Amino acid sequence: MTRSFTVTARDPVSSARTGVLETAHGAVETPAFMPVASQGSVKGLTHAVLEELGVGIILVNAYHLFLRPGADAVAALGGVHRFISWPKPVLSDSGGFQIFSMSPLVKVFEEGVRFASHLDGTKIFLTPEDAVDVQAKLGTDIGMCLDYFPPYPATETTMREAVERTGRWAARAKRRHETRESPQQLWGISQGGVYPDLRARGIETLMEIGFDGYAYGGLGLGEPKSQLFEVLEKGDPLLPRDRPRYLMGMGYIEDIYEAVERGVDLFDCVLPTRNARNGTLFTSRGRISIKNVKYAADPGPLDEACSCYTCRTFSRAYLRHLFERGEIASAILNTIHNLHFYLDNFRRIRQSIQSNSFSLLKKSIRSESGDSKEETT
Ligand SMILES: [Zn+2]
Repeated sequence: MTRSFTVTARDPVSSARTGVLETAHGAVETPAFMPVASQGSVKGLTHAVLEELGVGIILVNAYHLFLRPGADAVAALGGVHRFISWPKPVLSDSGGFQIFSMSPLVKVFEEGVRFASHLDGTKIFLTPEDAVDVQAKLGTDIGMCLDYFPPYPATETTMREAVERTGRWAARAKRRHETRESPQQLWGISQGGVYPDLRARGIETLMEIGFDGYAYGGLGLGEPKSQLFEVLEKGDPLLPRDRPRYLMGMGYIEDIYEAVERGVDLFDCVLPTRNARNGTLFTSRGRISIKNVKYAADPGPLDEACSCYTCRTFSRAYLRHLFERGEIASAILNTIHNLHFYLDNFRRIRQSIQSNSFSLLKKSIRSESGDSKEETT
């Protein structure tokens, strides 16, 4: 296994760290945020805008690309980077989450999972080996193991079975991955919900198998935040310090600060992009809903503290008008702002860790904004 991750700075008073994640398509500075491009496109934005915003890595979804246009089709077109014309790192989710959350008629066997396509009901059987093969065909820089998780909340017995099965599937995925000469990395996903012992068992099993990176899966499904943070706190000393850690699908900024403090390096979430399309915007003073009538005659920028194209150029009144008229430009301009807001927070997080001031930054974010404060409409 080639060394693909280097820690470059550590916060003296917490587990926060900066690092460089090397991939076949370049390096990513961590902590990093991956905008979600499920179908190979960050909704509303061209890749040129992503580059301008400083996006270092995106996430595509193997489940969606496997259904349409198909992994073989993407491979025939030169792999995902060439197919979507994105030269930088790409991580693919294995599809486990989509199968267990979106597909009807899911049935799990030791061999794999049978489900019906959410598009047309076609029955599909997917094994952990298939998930590796699909991602190899896509040619992403980082592939994820197929994991199994039960719906939240799960009993301890159900969760134990899920952890054990996820471990066995991870071992099979690793064996399949090793049959290929490829620069693609394979990362393991731990399950265990918020049961500390099961989560620890899940992590230990993955580490015995050995992966390029380790993800926390099955979180952010409605469990209390205190329990989620406890999982990260207990996972931190268990996980190898020289491998990247990825918290899957979690994305309120205030939670991201908590996770970074507990040693997490990589994040993805649909929140900034999906909320942008719904007219919910993250600002330095909390979340706002641009459709609020009070913005109808407001000539000010969306966020005085933001330097993005949207805030530099347009008024709240215009952004509200675009949203109310259902203009495509509304989704575009709102997404530019929300992604800039996220990426800017990650830049500040990295800088603060490097200058030993992460805890100060975290405190200032909590008191000045934050994310917890939501405007009522
Ligand atoms: Zn802005």
